[in-house]
Amino acid sequence: MRKTPLEVLKKVFGFDGFRENQQEIIQTVLDGRDAFVLMPTGSGKSICYQIPSIILNGVGLVVSPLIALMQNQVEALRQNGVRAAFLNSSQSPDESKRIELQVLNGQCDILYVAPERLLMERFHNFLMKIPIALFAIDEAHCVSQWGHDFRPEYLRLVEVTDRFPGVPRIALTATADSITRREIVEKLGLTDASQFVSSFDRPNINYQVKLKVNGKKQLLEFIRNDHFSEAGIVYTRTRKRADETAWWLQENGVKALPYHAGMDAQTRQSHQRRFLREDDIVVVATIAFGMGIDKPDVRFVAHLDLPSSMEAYYQETGRAGRDGHPADAWMVYSLADVVAMRRLLETSDGGAAFKRIQQQKLEVLLGYCESSACRRQALLGYFGEAYPDVCGNCDACRQEIETWDGSIAAQKALSCVYRTGQRFGAAHLTDVLIGNRTERVLQLKHDQLKTFGVGDDLSQAEWLSVFRQLLAGGFLTVDIGKISGFRLTEKSRPVLKGTQQVQLRKDPHPVKLKRSVKPSSSKVLELEDEEVKKLFEKLRLLRLEIARQLELPPYVVFHDKTLKEMAILKPTSRTAMLQVTGVGEQKLQRYGDRFLDAIKLNE
Ligand code: ZN
Repeated sequence: MRKTPLEVLKKVFGFDGFRENQQEIIQTVLDGRDAFVLMPTGSGKSICYQIPSIILNGVGLVVSPLIALMQNQVEALRQNGVRAAFLNSSQSPDESKRIELQVLNGQCDILYVAPERLLMERFHNFLMKIPIALFAIDEAHCVSQWGHDFRPEYLRLVEVTDRFPGVPRIALTATADSITRREIVEKLGLTDASQFVSSFDRPNINYQVKLKVNGKKQLLEFIRNDHFSEAGIVYTRTRKRADETAWWLQENGVKALPYHAGMDAQTRQSHQRRFLREDDIVVVATIAFGMGIDKPDVRFVAHLDLPSSMEAYYQETGRAGRDGHPADAWMVYSLADVVAMRRLLETSDGGAAFKRIQQQKLEVLLGYCESSACRRQALLGYFGEAYPDVCGNCDACRQEIETWDGSIAAQKALSCVYRTGQRFGAAHLTDVLIGNRTERVLQLKHDQLKTFGVGDDLSQAEWLSVFRQLLAGGFLTVDIGKISGFRLTEKSRPVLKGTQQVQLRKDPHPVKLKRSVKPSSSKVLELEDEEVKKLFEKLRLLRLEIARQLELPPYVVFHDKTLKEMAILKPTSRTAMLQVTGVGEQKLQRYGDRFLDAIKLNE
């Protein structure tokens, strides 16, 4: 009789219960039906195809574009005693042959492959010889031509899966707006698939956006005060800034390393390795870093420059706190960044339609930065998810942002949009409001409008800020169609009528840099009990020792969460040890006794 998903979850992975949607998804695949899974990173996506692959007859084929991630996942699966392997271009032909042989002999339950491999005719012949449990298509958003992770091979995956009717397909992604979602379903041939959309909320992440005064100094203060000797990622826009920032942090006592495409492969790899295998490294990187990095205990992600879009922001900040413990998403930005982004956009390759979409994405991102309302609401709203309450875990909710009553300003702005015909952008609208007789204003006779000059009490920058905030709040929208101007929305009416107040964010005052330094490495655990804290640190050292011997990242041995539970529960027997979250049978056999001894010695 085959095992139930819950049995596998407990025995192999050491977890007691499924999270949102996981069980339904697994059942769908076990029943031989297709599934489309939209789940944020860190919420247990891979379990959804790993467990059916283990249970079902044959091998589960997992398509993944990220070599590093493949290797990580296979490493972690093997630690749990799962027969897993990968095939990609990093291997020698001999190695590949050996793995293919294993698969042919039925000695493999999960096989990760790069998309190029799956499309090869030779590989197809190989597939014809083996029973296939399922096709899992990970990072399914790579199918979208509009996205920044577009992989042309993904468009052809359906050719392969169509040759195996009856084999269930499961497509998974962590980042998708509604357009991308439709694209995935359509292009991967999943119109009949059951769709599972999980909440995108990452409740343990605290979102903060601040005005940039001196980015590097602000960053240093942030690390010193909140994340001293903890793992983190800092994103910068250019390689030069990544280098400079890393050296500056080093000079100031932070273990920081740069990472970008301009470095030689060997140094880059060694920096990535250190980040994965030690637990207090800060990597300062361009966007080249992070794809395929699956490190659960990253305590903060900082942006010294604006990310390229909300999707990128969500994805990048999503690398923080995958273990569910408190983590920070911290960003500073200035008007100069905005100008730089616009310039970059103007000079970029790509047609008008592409640029317009990018432009709109930028506006949304800026709206997010300047919003004085709950950031989680704005972020989730972007992905089409309503978040009914304020979250209490962002700078806006914690009332770190000063606001002003912008109701009258909003009325003027919206009215100006309306009177100019709902087809102009912020720059021209601002000219009309302030009363600038520009060539364009005169040509369009906008100096004769009622709204001309009614807004001379605010500066141009303030008006731009008002427009961005109105856009962010949904009081205005931008057409992606032929016209690139602002349009009113349903939400505009009550504001224009004066029945709804609008609170706007004030430009924050320059931040005063604090001098104090208070290292707090175990802050994140928030363990009240000193004794528990001590035991936890001991277990952490033991983990590091084991990880070094095996040349594995520490979290592959056990997650922080597991160690924390051990420190609290203090199991004294193997049976008791199995009750700890994250301890399955394999890991109990491998490491159980050493940890039990350490706990015993502590008594
Ligand atoms: Zn909030």
